[in-house]
Amino acid sequence: MEIIYTGSLVGDFMFCKRKFWLISRGIMSDNKNEDLIIGKMINEQSYPREEREILLGKNLIDFIGDDGKIHEIKKSSSFIETHTMQLKFYLYIYKKVFGKKIGGVLNFPEEKKVVEVNLTDEDEKNIDNLLLEMKKIEDDGKAPELSEMYKCKKCSLLAICRG
Ligand code: SF4
Repeated sequence: MEIIYTGSLVGDFMFCKRKFWLISRGIMSDNKNEDLIIGKMINEQSYPREEREILLGKNLIDFIGDDGKIHEIKKSSSFIETHTMQLKFYLYIYKKVFGKKIGGVLNFPEEKKVVEVNLTDEDEKNIDNLLLEMKKIEDDGKAPELSEMYKCKKCSLLAICRG
């Protein structure tokens, strides 16, 4: 199966299926760019010596460390499940490309926290299913239901989605 999605879209899908559906139709907001700029600044300030931003397929990963693991730098550990799935997706792509598994690390420099992430055989099956589900939702003409307000308050598409 050709993989047409990026880790960022996987993260959006995990966060809110409606958000993924809207973005898949080209609906974005400047806040998304703002978030990316803030994330990039944290990245550059926290890991100045690392070889940053490696292209893996369509995915720009933050860096591969001396430990041989894929590292992702995040602003906050809120919604850690979304960050974890996004990183597992990068590990999944890495395995597809190079035929072997490596580990991953989520870095939260502002919280002085690191979380190890590994790809299990079950994760691989889950990601296969996730990609099929994403395609089904993207092809659906009807937008998925609204998420709960605590998520919407953190969402870059709040104004356009909820009006
Ligand atoms: S505003 Fe809420 S429902 Fe709409 S895309 Fe964002 S999280 Fe999803």
